[in-house]
Amino acid sequence: MPDTSPPLSPQSLRLFFACWPTAALQQQLHALGVGLRQQIGGRPTRPENIHLTLAFVGDVPAQQLPALQQLAAGITAAPFTLQLQQLGCWPQAAVGWLAPDQTPEPLLQLVQQLNRDLRQAGFRGEKRRYRPHLTLLRKATQGWHSTLETPLCWQVEEFVLVASTLDAHGPSYRIIGRWPLHG
Ligand code: ATP
Ligand code: MG
Repeated sequence: MPDTSPPLSPQSLRLFFACWPTAALQQQLHALGVGLRQQIGGRPTRPENIHLTLAFVGDVPAQQLPALQQLAAGITAAPFTLQLQQLGCWPQAAVGWLAPDQTPEPLLQLVQQLNRDLRQAGFRGEKRRYRPHLTLLRKATQGWHSTLETPLCWQVEEFVLVASTLDAHGPSYRIIGRWPLHG
């Protein structure tokens, strides 16, 4: 019998750049998601999964990893503070989120540099306007918006490269590189 199975594809990784909250902040954010569920329904993101996406890279062969690490090491953006105060839901994406009041300039620079360098290195780069948010709920379909009385303050001092996998329990994320922010 001839072997009809498809050829083994080179090992690939699903990658994105992100800022990763401390475990303590992730717990606070999760509690917020649990509260928000009463307003808009949905399923809270597991605490350890809560993050701020900077740039989505997508599926790439594992041998591209050194190029991405080199690219990340060349980024120059200052640390910044996020004042997280806006709670809302995008019904079409079915996502409930927490977002900063304003996008700090260093965060914009970080995202723009990542996308520019990703495109230059032959990866996909985002062209849509960046809308920073932390997903607190999935499958939340009710349009909604409110402002937290007291903002959550997040001092962001580094960014990370994350590998994402999907199994029966949903997505799980593994941090595979960290770089400090410096101006
Ligand atoms: P799932 O797709 O199973 O719901 P997920 O979206 O959390 O899980 P990924 O699809 O690997 O996992 O995405 C990782 C991160 O990148 C998430 O924050 C996601 O919102 C973001 N992301 C995914 N696809 C894109 C895309 N096409 N453009 C921009 N960001 C994306
Ligand atoms: Mg996804």
